[in-house]
Amino acid sequence: MSTHEPRKTFAIISHPDAGKTTLTEKLLYFGGAIHTAGMVKSRKSKAATSDWMEIEKQRGISVTSSVMQFNYNGYAINILDTPGHQDFSEDTYRTLTAADSAVMLIDAAKGIEPQTIKLFEVCRMRGIPIFTFINKMDRDARDPLALLEDLEEVLGIRSCPMNWPIGSGVDFQGVYDREKQQVEVFRKGEAEHSRSFMPVFSEDADEAAVRARIGDTLYEKLEEDAELLDIAGDPFDQEKINSGKLTPVFFGSALTNFGVQSFLEYFLRLAPGPAPRMSDKGQVVPESSKLSGFIFKIQANMNPAHRDRIAFLRIVSGTFTRGMSVQHVRTGKKIKLSQPQQFLAQDRNIIEDAYAGDIIGLFDPGIFGIGDTLVEGNQAYSFAGVPHFSPEIFARVRAKDAMKYKQFHKGMQQLSEEGAVQYFTTAAPGAENMILGVVGQLQLEVFEYRMRAEYGVEVEIQPLGYSLARWVKGDKKEHELNLIQYGGSLTVKDRAGRLVVLLENEFAERWAQEKNPDVEFVSTSYE
Ligand code: GDP
Repeated sequence: MSTHEPRKTFAIISHPDAGKTTLTEKLLYFGGAIHTAGMVKSRKSKAATSDWMEIEKQRGISVTSSVMQFNYNGYAINILDTPGHQDFSEDTYRTLTAADSAVMLIDAAKGIEPQTIKLFEVCRMRGIPIFTFINKMDRDARDPLALLEDLEEVLGIRSCPMNWPIGSGVDFQGVYDREKQQVEVFRKGEAEHSRSFMPVFSEDADEAAVRARIGDTLYEKLEEDAELLDIAGDPFDQEKINSGKLTPVFFGSALTNFGVQSFLEYFLRLAPGPAPRMSDKGQVVPESSKLSGFIFKIQANMNPAHRDRIAFLRIVSGTFTRGMSVQHVRTGKKIKLSQPQQFLAQDRNIIEDAYAGDIIGLFDPGIFGIGDTLVEGNQAYSFAGVPHFSPEIFARVRAKDAMKYKQFHKGMQQLSEEGAVQYFTTAAPGAENMILGVVGQLQLEVFEYRMRAEYGVEVEIQPLGYSLARWVKGDKKEHELNLIQYGGSLTVKDRAGRLVVLLENEFAERWAQEKNPDVEFVSTSYE
């Protein structure tokens, strides 16, 4: 086996504006990848979404920063970008299936916001460890205890503060590192912090100096808080962290680069490396010598001149070397991986080798689908697929020109295989039976554009009032469901022919559940 740095592969989940771009920049900066930092920022350039080239530009930037790798303290760290804002889509969710842990970034003044909840749910479903970074402490923040209560009440996760803020906003003095018993000192007005520590509460602490630094009131408050946390807080428990039941919490300020480096160091110590993955023939461990991996994302048209697609492969085991041959398990075909790419912000680099935990981009001539498994050698197994997530926007869709029926179906088929959209069918005859499901508005616009540009079909999109899809577990038939009297639902089939109920809202979902106590409705499905 070749030697290489241990891997840490994670995604940052947050609501727009919590500071993900800023935090990512700082992390890359510690890894010496400073030249990419400004480029991460360029994602923010807002573009009109009606024009494909604009969409391309906008997405192109977030695409090239899909995966960023940097090195720190002997680790190779992969950050998976989860697009937010208006390009929120199923990709955002799927990306989380390739991460071994997540960093949940929260704005200290706003607390938990809607997009955080959605992304958290996907992490919880996977049971991956979640590290919480509470950002913007240099601004007025909510009470830290109230923030922790929110974690428990809104998300249902226990928390263990690793550090504790001393004041906030104009009074912010720094954070108290509970394990090291030291204050990391915040100096107002400093745009970029270098670290400075003062021991506190321990033998080598100079109480007078700390008091002089942070003030008597905050010192006494800290003393009280520290004691309260020790007595009443959840104790540190690595096992509970590993299973996603307890989240270590860090306070800091990404913009002023305060607490980020300390966070990174704790994270690298506490976060798991590449996890084993379940396949239909048993567990595959990262140490296994043969390469294996699965496709979790396909990005079309990165380069408009070539109309190429890039398939993102998460390596589960073994070592990838350039030019090697692998088996595409679904089709049984052998494929030579000659032009793989790794992504570092704007640059697309051709890579020579990669290891379990890494993500590589493969040129896709049109054979890959979301969830496909690639393995080295003759042994064929498949990883449990990448699930479909419940769309939130539904629309009836048809070709404006009925003569384009065939192209329309081909487009629907291919775009859904690629994971760009999901479609469902109703029992209605012919062309009126197609329902499109997407997670974000931009996904709809991209769909409309690509149907026109790639399949020559003008589509008519008629929005529907549903906001969630629930897959019906087991082999229930449509007529066995008790939904008829209620107008807020529609029974459809997904692409694989499984029964799905589209519902107006969570209220309708509860109603459906009450009327069908023996039916299990689920919000994700595996193919
Ligand atoms: P994203 O949408 O999550 O990527 O958020 P950005 O990183 O773009 O940050 C949103 C805004 O919050 C920007 O104006 C940042 O400068 C600002 N910001 C991010 N982190 C901090 C912080 O720690 N303190 C303060 N005061 N502002 C921050």
